Amino acid sequence: MEPKIIARPDHNISRKQISSAALKVLYGLKDAGYTAFLAGGGVRDLLLNRAPKDFDVATNATPEEVKKVFRNSRLIGRRFRLVHVYFHNEIIEVSTFRAPMPAADEIPEKNSFLAKDGLVLRDNVFGTPEEDALRRDFTVNALFYNIADFSIIDYVNGIQDLDNRILRVIGNPDQRFTEDPVRILRAIRFAAALGLEIESSAREAIRCHAARLEGCSSSRLYEEIQKLFSCGKAVQVFKLCCELDVIEHLFPELGAWLKAPDGERKSHWLEKSFKQIDRWRTAGLTVDSSLLFALIFGEYHEWVASQLAEHEGLAYADALQEATHRHIRQLDRICIPKAVTHHIAEIMSGQPRFLKTTPKNAQRMLRHRSFLDAFLYFKFAARTARRYTTELEWWEQQRKTR
Ligand code: ATP
Ligand code: MG
Repeated sequence: MEPKIIARPDHNISRKQISSAALKVLYGLKDAGYTAFLAGGGVRDLLLNRAPKDFDVATNATPEEVKKVFRNSRLIGRRFRLVHVYFHNEIIEVSTFRAPMPAADEIPEKNSFLAKDGLVLRDNVFGTPEEDALRRDFTVNALFYNIADFSIIDYVNGIQDLDNRILRVIGNPDQRFTEDPVRILRAIRFAAALGLEIESSAREAIRCHAARLEGCSSSRLYEEIQKLFSCGKAVQVFKLCCELDVIEHLFPELGAWLKAPDGERKSHWLEKSFKQIDRWRTAGLTVDSSLLFALIFGEYHEWVASQLAEHEGLAYADALQEATHRHIRQLDRICIPKAVTHHIAEIMSGQPRFLKTTPKNAQRMLRHRSFLDAFLYFKFAARTARRYTTELEWWEQQRKTR
């Protein structure tokens, strides 16, 4: 297929917006006689007049050839072999154009490309720029910026979708979400963060395949969940997760709890949490992942704790600790690092202490490493429920006199 070429005068991407490291890599490859394109999110973000998080380069040079062009580089990855080119404050990821996966019925018997349910296990076959574009996830993520003539190369009508603010899957959404269910979370993140509408057949496919998230690699899930809720549009992410029936497959216990009677009040807490997280992000603050999870699960933990206190006769503070631990154990499907789960438990189990303490104990608490996150949680919970105003003021005072 002939791509659409958008010549330099007809688009808004200028070299001034591309980092000097990325330009060095693009020109280095070009001067060595290779094709070199800026690819992926960088091109998409520049077209949307947003600052890209990073710049990725795609080329027809093999990883070994790329390595020869840049002394400051290293081959990485097993599943996909890539080259990282190192600069003092930036790493540019360079990948060789990749071919698509062979169709299921073209795979010889003993080949391990696809697991039985269609999940991709292994691929690393080089291809043409067109093939490389077609194997990417969404049309807006498959645009190339060609350093040879500063044009944009569009094999997938991505420019048109960007203009119309549509997030469209490349190829058949059922197949693409089956191959890699993490794309479901990526779709939600891009739609929320960039203000795009997920195209209707993709929405249907997300609903249909969301359960497949439960079979995904736990470390990929953990990484993607963090990105989802810290993209600055967590409110919108949560709304889409509920609308598209994804939440119950991401956090089954939380999903079931939200669906039970009184779910609306519970969503209210979550919406407020996400608003707060977005406010922090917009102010440029990084939200610690433990605090992020504590805010997401907090009211659920408090509810489980009150059940435990009522039915198992535990003191509330112990019940809260037990509820948090039990839930965290259930979460092993998402590979939350030990240090993070420990910190979530500290934030939660510390809550009752904010209501019952002496000035001397308060000073000790203030020195504890999880104090700030625990206090931010307490402040948020108190304000959301419009209670503990006196305690909150007392604590603000203690912090000042520290
Ligand atoms: P951002 O970096 O802003 O989160 P991005 O689009 O650059 O967004 P990356 O994860 O950096 O996302 O991936 C770079 C590019 O690689 C994507 O734009 C997309 O073209 C392709 N890609 C990444 N993950 C997948 C996937 N799971 N399936 C298909 N293509 C993917
Ligand atoms: Mg990127």
